[in-house]
Amino acid sequence: MNIKHVKACRKSPGQCSGCGKPIEIGQPYKLVASRFSAKKIKCNDCNFRPSELTTSKMGTVYDAQEATEKEVEEWTGEDIGNLSSALEDLAGTAREVAEEYQESISNMNNNPLTDEWQEKADSLESWADDLEGVQFEEYGDQSDGTKKEDWIEEQRQLASDAIEECP
Ligand SMILES: [Zn+2]
Repeated sequence: MNIKHVKACRKSPGQCSGCGKPIEIGQPYKLVASRFSAKKIKCNDCNFRPSELTTSKMGTVYDAQEATEKEVEEWTGEDIGNLSSALEDLAGTAREVAEEYQESISNMNNNPLTDEWQEKADSLESWADDLEGVQFEEYGDQSDGTKKEDWIEEQRQLASDAIEECP
């Protein structure tokens, strides 16, 4: 879905769905609309979430992916288990959505989309496996005197590499 930008509205389109601020006449705003979902409006200070730009089940995955990226960025080297569990949560979401695809497939015989859904489901499952399989290092395991900042950076990198593999 594409975002449409309106430079100055002639009549108020209503409220921003992000911050709730009413958009007044003459102000800019942006919107997305599709055949399958209600029109969504944002003021110029707010951004659309990835899930608002897609009509597919993948929206849930993209939101979780975005949230996990953020968790990884904010991780400052405390318990390494926090990184593993962030990835495990994301893997859980991927598996749930894979299951939804599977359900849609079994509810629809001979739908031409089912091949595509099967592919999505399979790639989500294998991505979930990869996320759960990331091996982080504990700090202090390195004998070469790695600095803590470097270690933190390496662990974050491991996590975001896996997150980016999202199908
Ligand atoms: Zn707003």
